[in-house]
Amino acid sequence: MTPLPPTPATREACAELDAADPIAAFRDEFVLPEGVIYLDGNSLGALPRAVPGRVADLVEREWGQGLVRSWNDAGWWDKPRTLGARLAPLVGAAPHEVVVGDGTSANLFKALVAALRLNPGRRTVLGEPGNFPTDLYVTQGVTDLLGAGQRLADPDEPGRIAEALAAGDVAVVLLSHVDYRTGALRDMAGLTKAAHDHGALVVWDVCHSVGALPVDLAGCGADFAVGCTYKYLNGGPGGPAFTYVAERHHASARQPIAGWHGHARPFDFAGEYVPAAGADRFLSGSQPLVAAAALEASLELWSRVDLRQVRAKSLVLTDLFRSVAESAGLAVATPRAAERRGSHVALRHPGGYAIVRALIERGVIGDFRAPDVLRFGFAPLYLRHVDVFDAAHALAEVVESGEWRDPRFSERAHVT
Ligand SMILES: *Cc1c(COP(=O)(O)O)cnc(C)c1O
Repeated sequence: MTPLPPTPATREACAELDAADPIAAFRDEFVLPEGVIYLDGNSLGALPRAVPGRVADLVEREWGQGLVRSWNDAGWWDKPRTLGARLAPLVGAAPHEVVVGDGTSANLFKALVAALRLNPGRRTVLGEPGNFPTDLYVTQGVTDLLGAGQRLADPDEPGRIAEALAAGDVAVVLLSHVDYRTGALRDMAGLTKAAHDHGALVVWDVCHSVGALPVDLAGCGADFAVGCTYKYLNGGPGGPAFTYVAERHHASARQPIAGWHGHARPFDFAGEYVPAAGADRFLSGSQPLVAAAALEASLELWSRVDLRQVRAKSLVLTDLFRSVAESAGLAVATPRAAERRGSHVALRHPGGYAIVRALIERGVIGDFRAPDVLRFGFAPLYLRHVDVFDAAHALAEVVESGEWRDPRFSERAHVT
């Protein structure tokens, strides 16, 4: 990896980096509200300017004029495949290994059941205690249903995953590539190999890495992966998720929601289920195509993006933010080494919720994750170095002045 440039120390130095930034022009392709520095693109990505027009076209022309003919004429039927093929390069997959549809939680369910079925002698899913709750809950649902069990080990503590695998009973390992709370980036290749060496399959959750850094599912030997499109990919709130199925499992993987869109010949309307070839068998039923249109417009933008440039800028932005936060005395929960962190910075503070609210009032939008984590996400396509400089100094001011202690900042909203 090329060495990182030094962290810019002044606003002028940041402006110089912006002037030389090879991906600076992408910012103009997003709608960004006046007076806002948006550091929550890891939760809900900003709106690409091309989206409203594409959604309107689907609604008015494809639906309004084309009506049912659009299943053929506008490619509606094939959308899960065509969008999957567009997304595939972002996760290091071949076009036919990715399908877009349903949500991450539902796709986790399908992938976990399929993986357990591929490893019939074993009944344990190895997960991580700090994973995003839905990953833990879906695993509980799957293991309850199949009479299997869940064991947990922390991938950020050296040796813990290897120790858990050594028991020899793990069927499937489910891990997040980037920890949603701390921003820790896991060694996908190494952990996948360790699992395979112990006879286990791996399902990777790439929700917090897709669009934030280059992901190489096929190169790492991953078996399955799931991810959402509404975070760094800017696919819109509740946008369809995706599933990666390694080609070597295409003939044998069987997922449990065997619906007609995953049938080999859906328009035979036959009474018996015959799975389609390939990743298509992970489809179930009709998809929300209006939401898919938003994702389609965003993926067009992504097809012009070099993820290595995104990653290089992301590392500078996160370093910049971190160094100012540290100077203000804040505890940083995100690993320091470039190869061990994703694209957000997590800070810990007992007044975290109120600090985040006070910053939002100043136009700097981050978020809070219980019990004490302040999260700031850095989407390099639409954030400038000067934005991050200003946001970090606003944070330092809020903390140093004690502004956040005003009781109004402690009133909890439903969504944090
Ligand atoms: C965001 C996220 C999800 C979201 O799941 P949904 O089904 O889209 O609500 C799941 N897992 C991880 C790790 C996430 O970061």
